[in-house]
Formats: sequence, C-alpha cells, structure tokens
Amino acid sequence: MHRIYENDDITVFWDSGKCVHSRNCVMGAPDNFNVNKKPWVNLENADVAKVWQALDKCPDKALSCVYNHDIKVLLEEDNCRSAAYDAGKKIGECDYKINGETITMFHTEVDPEYGGKSIAKRLAYKVIEMAEKKKLTINPTCSYVAKILQE
Ligand code: SF4
Repeated sequence: MHRIYENDDITVFWDSGKCVHSRNCVMGAPDNFNVNKKPWVNLENADVAKVWQALDKCPDKALSCVYNHDIKVLLEEDNCRSAAYDAGKKIGECDYKINGETITMFHTEVDPEYGGKSIAKRLAYKVIEMAEKKKLTINPTCSYVAKILQE
C-alpha cells in the first residue's frame, strides 16, 4: 500500500510493504504518527524538523519525506492525470487511463528545470494512492512508476 500525506511545506510517503512496525516514527513524533488514528499520519501544524528526525529512524525507508518547494501536486481525475504546478504554471504530470478494473499509468514527466525536487514521485504517488483506494490493478507501463512499485 502506498500513501501520500502533505501539508504546505512537506510531503510524506508511506510504503506499507516496507514497514516493519518498529514504531520509531510513533515514538519520534507522536503528534504526527499515531497508529490508532485514521489517517495515521497527520501533518497539520507539524514540526518539520521533528518529523524529519523521526523518519530518519525508519528502517528500510517505509516512510520518506521531501520538501514541497512551493510546488502543488493535484490529482485531476477529470483529466486522468496528476499535475504539478508552480504558481499556476503546470510543470509536470503523471497520466493514466482506466479500463475496467485496470489502470495503466503510461507517462510521467517533469520540466527538467524542476529536477531534483522529487516532483515525479509526488505525481506518481497521487495516482497510485487513488488506484489502490479504488482497488484497481495497476499496469505501470511508465518505467518510473514501475520502479516505484518495485522498490
Ligand atoms: S518507523 Fe518506519 S518501519 Fe517503523 S513503524 Fe514507522 S513506518 Fe513502520
């Protein structure tokens, strides 16, 4: 299971397949990670440094975190894509098509000028999370998405 959690400053990714339930995250930042709540990750009013320190102790990087750099990433289901925006300008997207119970994720691209900011990962996770919640089978013909799902 892949989940994405955001606030204005940071994005946290969770890959449940890598979680060994060490609870280091819960102990390190109990205000933000609470397995008794849904969602179990809450970044509202988060102390970013504390979240980051807690995630540093996550074995196998089941949880990871990136800064948003003021880039917004939205799921736009009407357009069958997630899209990244810098002050309203679209600078990346992850495209898919749904056929029955299968979602084919076929293209992920970010303007090279915005490289190194993990925007592609945010774009892919938005779609993967949606697909998993809808119990769709993911067909990752986009090599970047395939890599994320195989990590
Ligand atoms: S620290 Fe990582 S491995 Fe441990 S419970 Fe949290 S997410 Fe899972």
